[in-house]
Amino acid sequence: MSGIDALPPLRQVIADHDLSAKKALGQNFLLDLNLTAKIARQAGDLSGADVLEIGPGPGGLTRGLLAEGARRVLAVEKDARCLPALAEIAKAYPGRLEVVNADALKLDPLAHLSPPVRVVANLPYNVGTELLVRWLTPAEWPPFWQSLTLMFQREVAERIVAVPGSKAYGRLAILAQWRADARIVMSLPPEAFTPPPKVSSAVVHLTALPAPRYPADAKVLERVVAQAFNQRRKMLRAALKGLAPDIEDRLRAVGIDPTRRAETVTLEEFCALARDIGG
Ligand code: SAM
Repeated sequence: MSGIDALPPLRQVIADHDLSAKKALGQNFLLDLNLTAKIARQAGDLSGADVLEIGPGPGGLTRGLLAEGARRVLAVEKDARCLPALAEIAKAYPGRLEVVNADALKLDPLAHLSPPVRVVANLPYNVGTELLVRWLTPAEWPPFWQSLTLMFQREVAERIVAVPGSKAYGRLAILAQWRADARIVMSLPPEAFTPPPKVSSAVVHLTALPAPRYPADAKVLERVVAQAFNQRRKMLRAALKGLAPDIEDRLRAVGIDPTRRAETVTLEEFCALARDIGG
């Protein structure tokens, strides 16, 4: 017994199924089920929602989500070694857990989910960042998800919630804050994981806004922001030269001094520039 359910403790699950952590898959497991239940609670009311969990591993967070009352969990795991352990969880929660053995970067999970959908994941940070950008940049809005509750390296979490003028402010802050409310809801030291990673982690909770904060075309905004922050030390007139031959005039037309640098430009100003370029 583990406290939140009648299944064995995670250390035993890992030993029984020989789930030694693989570095190549970014496997740093959470073994404290009280902690995984706490993360699950950050995702909001799960009772009326399907939860998409990416990277369940031995199932610590999966068990937290189910114990906290998720209507259904779809868990997508790349490492087939984890499947028998996850099958035991599915048996303990009949009809509420579906496990798919796939690479989350290649799978379209929508066929398996009914709205409303909440996404929860503790993923290797590079996969997490790539998925976050995809989930934030579909052509149409609102997206398939209502909220995202994601574990990141602390430094990446800070980039998502960063404000203009700060060192962490850049592409992730703009894309996240344009269409969602984003905040850091938990901090975790390396020792919370087995094996411990080198750096601290944080959980970011994002709620999809019904409509983007300011109108802009997603692809154009992405392009403008990527280019502006690629050369963040340069003045905008130089950093954005490749975007349009008359970029200085366009910057002035939307009220941005062309000698400013990207990190001083607000979300509203980036959207105005994207509209001017895209229109
Ligand atoms: N959720 C578990 C926990 O909190 O203990 C495991 C977290 S571990 C940081 C990341 C998990 O994501 C591992 O189980 C790993 O196998 C899985 N994973 C890595 N890349 C993946 C991918 N592209 N698609 C699906 N799962 C992936």
